[in-house]
Amino acid sequence: MNDLVITKHIHEKDSFKIENYLKHDGYKASARACTTMTPDQVIDEVKKSNLRGRGGAGFPTGMKWSFMPKDAKKTKYLVCNADEGEPGTFKDRLIITKNPHAMIEGMIIASYAIGAHVGYIYIRGEFFREARMLEFAIAEARAKGHLGNNLYGGQHAFDIYVYRGAGAYICGEETALLNSLEGKRGEPRLKPPFPAQVGAFGMPSCVNNVETFAAVPYIINEGAAKFASLGTEKSGGTRLYGVSGHIERPGVYELPLTISGRELIDHCGGVRGGKKLKAIIPGGASAPMLSAADIDVKLDFDSLMKAGSMAGSGGVIVIDESVCIVEMTCILLKFYEHESCGQCSQCREGSHWLSRLFQRIENGGGTAADLDTIATVCGHMAGQTICAFADAVTGPALSAVRKFRSEFEQHIHNKGCPFKKGHEHRHGEKVPGVAHV
Ligand code: SF4
Repeated sequence: MNDLVITKHIHEKDSFKIENYLKHDGYKASARACTTMTPDQVIDEVKKSNLRGRGGAGFPTGMKWSFMPKDAKKTKYLVCNADEGEPGTFKDRLIITKNPHAMIEGMIIASYAIGAHVGYIYIRGEFFREARMLEFAIAEARAKGHLGNNLYGGQHAFDIYVYRGAGAYICGEETALLNSLEGKRGEPRLKPPFPAQVGAFGMPSCVNNVETFAAVPYIINEGAAKFASLGTEKSGGTRLYGVSGHIERPGVYELPLTISGRELIDHCGGVRGGKKLKAIIPGGASAPMLSAADIDVKLDFDSLMKAGSMAGSGGVIVIDESVCIVEMTCILLKFYEHESCGQCSQCREGSHWLSRLFQRIENGGGTAADLDTIATVCGHMAGQTICAFADAVTGPALSAVRKFRSEFEQHIHNKGCPFKKGHEHRHGEKVPGVAHV
């Protein structure tokens, strides 16, 4: 594919350094936006490009920017969500380590469009190396005059600060992130008010993902129409897919949004070891899974939603025939049970009970009624809570039962996991207490 928006130069030596970025017209888009366009023109261009948020929800970016109040006297904040805590998702790390100046330039353009003078990059606490690389890139941008006062000879001033979180999954949710940024517990806030009205430190704030910002310079340089033409009717540009699991060539791939699940797997060399595909999780662990029969669906936001899943964070997990879906879902649910912030009883209790139900089935103590109970518990969780975390928990749980019901029934009927009899355990060790052949 020739039209790479973000990863075109990442294989060059020292691609993360500003000299390399400047060699490829780096910071021309921010200079152009700040000197030849009005903030409204920038927002219109981003709206026309059909850029949609790459963090998970796929909300139109230009529209999000237009929600920010126009009152010039109010302090406004721009926040980059670099938390990337969704299991199976690792594409933002690639941008941070290989092309950080694209996201910094995108933030400069966004700050000009919404009238913010301070930007924060909220990065996951465990990302030591990435945080240091961002500090390095920001220092380079400051030294070359792309951050600071009177940018490009005009009135706009903007600077960026890196803030390291403490590694809670829920801090990827924008209002929990804002609380954490303020030094409070990372708990989601009730909406409304939305961050555009009351965000960081009580001020209007705009939160976008790393990949979203990194796409913005291309839109200003090449035009909204060109960017829009790379995607689907309702979603412009390319997408970074982080492909992991049972795949021959795992990694991050920038590809058209129109690619299907099957084409993506082929592009990555197929299922590892020539095994049969069982399922994919197309948008990070919270996206409902698709069975092998469903993978001709295109991986854009709308097609995946129509197929009952979601594009989410772009993390595609490939699952081969050797995997026990019940056991795998148990592991995911254990993670979610641990990461619920606990504010809503439906989520706090529901994630715990789902985890226990799945474990009971996996361990051989399940009954047929458990499958109905799973559906009931999920029904009490989805759409009933402060944030979308509870919905995220029900995604893998419900899709596992719906798509692989016979596997659950086998566990219940056999009083145990059929995958553990005569099979290697998933980590390669023998499972204690069962006969191995
Ligand atoms: Fe916290 Fe879960 Fe409620 Fe979200 S849904 S606020 S994670 S308890």
